[in-house]
Amino acid sequence: STETTKSNNNNTPPPQLPAHILTKLQSTSLRTHLSLVILGHVDAGKSTLTGRLLLSLNHVSNRLLQKYQKDSATIGKSSFALAWFTDEDESERERGVTVDIGTKFIKTDKFDFTLLDAPGHRDFVPNMISGAAGADCGLLVVAATTGEFEAGFATGGNGVVGGQTREHIILSRGLGVSQFIVAVNKLDAAEPAWEEGRYEYIKSRVLAFLLENGFKEKRIRFVPVSGLTGVNVVSNGKKEDEEGWKMLQQWYKGPTLIEALNSFMPAKREFEKPLRCIVTDVSSEGKAVTVRGRIVQGFMRSGDGVALLPVGDEANVSRVEKGKATKESDSPYAYVSNNGNQSNNNPETDLNDDPELQNFALAGDTVECALTGIDAARVSPGCVICHPQVSVRPRIERKFEARVMVMEQLAVPIIRGSQVLFHMHSIDVPAVLNKLMTAKKRGEATPRNNPRVLSGGVEATVEITLSERLVLEEYSECKSLGRFVLRRGGDTIAIGLIEKMLGK
Ligand code: GDP
Repeated sequence: STETTKSNNNNTPPPQLPAHILTKLQSTSLRTHLSLVILGHVDAGKSTLTGRLLLSLNHVSNRLLQKYQKDSATIGKSSFALAWFTDEDESERERGVTVDIGTKFIKTDKFDFTLLDAPGHRDFVPNMISGAAGADCGLLVVAATTGEFEAGFATGGNGVVGGQTREHIILSRGLGVSQFIVAVNKLDAAEPAWEEGRYEYIKSRVLAFLLENGFKEKRIRFVPVSGLTGVNVVSNGKKEDEEGWKMLQQWYKGPTLIEALNSFMPAKREFEKPLRCIVTDVSSEGKAVTVRGRIVQGFMRSGDGVALLPVGDEANVSRVEKGKATKESDSPYAYVSNNGNQSNNNPETDLNDDPELQNFALAGDTVECALTGIDAARVSPGCVICHPQVSVRPRIERKFEARVMVMEQLAVPIIRGSQVLFHMHSIDVPAVLNKLMTAKKRGEATPRNNPRVLSGGVEATVEITLSERLVLEEYSECKSLGRFVLRRGGDTIAIGLIEKMLGK
């Protein structure tokens, strides 16, 4: 198409990564970072386990933990001390953190992880969608205690409110999370405690469900843990519950949680594709506009011109900062090594420490950038930042053909004309399924054409029209802007991929 803009940028070619830098990035010896979404039913122990990870990896001090233990005991909630590390407001006030990217980071000896939160309550599923979108891997926390696992894993429908474990698994699959650790948590409180049979039972139920939903067995690890007492989070985490650790050792020979985190596969990053940065947060002070977001493709550098879509306004990037585990002691995001300098034990180079790469914020990075020449009112979460040249901009569309997978549990079948909510990263808009083109049940070889309805469990090709134009791309062009979730009446009904734009 021959769009015209007033921009001078259009006469310059889009910025490119120097060849030697691209080669460096593509070498496998670079330490990389992964984004990890923490999932699970409410009360499964996500915050506690996250707090435990922060503590075990020395991102928070024991001094602060002691303070939280004292404070939480005062209000009769001592079991929540660890979870407080992940409570943004509390902890930020406490520690006087100035810059963090709205996310937490942990650093193992193999990876830097960005932790993405996914609220466990079903009212927060849309937040979970924005949290999990773009995650490279997931940590699914399930409570092993009697009744709790069962409630969290219950199927919904027929007036029964389902647990969030299944929905989180299905959504993660739809959002592109392909590798998982399942932490079978609270084994210290199961009856009897640390029992192999209970662990194996939960493992077999969850594994069967993951496989049913298209996950690959070799990308899933199960780890028995207690976030509360620290057993099997790190191998030296036995101090607080020596007895539990001994009971577990009688039958369990697998990895600790940290070892399992280290066994994730590095994610493939599309550094050489055009820049796409999805905005998650905007703030402004006077004329200065600060934007936070996630780069899902390409790279960004301070000094570069950018465009913000869908509005199309152009701006300059005056500063870019990458989110990472910092080295200031006592900051929650600080990384203080156990043994002097842990990164020296690591033969791999840290991407963040390479001076040549320092100026580039890259695919996979969470960034904070300052933009000049733009009005803050024109920027909002869900905007996409790209380079300004027309040839490298994503499209702004409202009608497309998509491949969808319909949820197994579907209260009301989908028909032609069904109204739904379309969710993509942090955006949701009303949409209509205006054509049902093909449908097939799992395992069927050939699809049926022009189905009258889509029932639970089918895979279908459909035409969707949104109520407004959004920044969209075909999945083959940009994964993050090409996959979506459809919901209706508070339930997730399908996940999908955009196959083809259909114009007006
Ligand atoms: P979230 O809603 O998934 O974030 O769960 P929380 O981390 O807030 O934990 C919910 C409750 O379960 C709190 O009372 C925790 O102390 C408790 N809890 C979390 N992990 C464990 C564990 O490993 N063992 C036991 N016994 N209790 C736990």
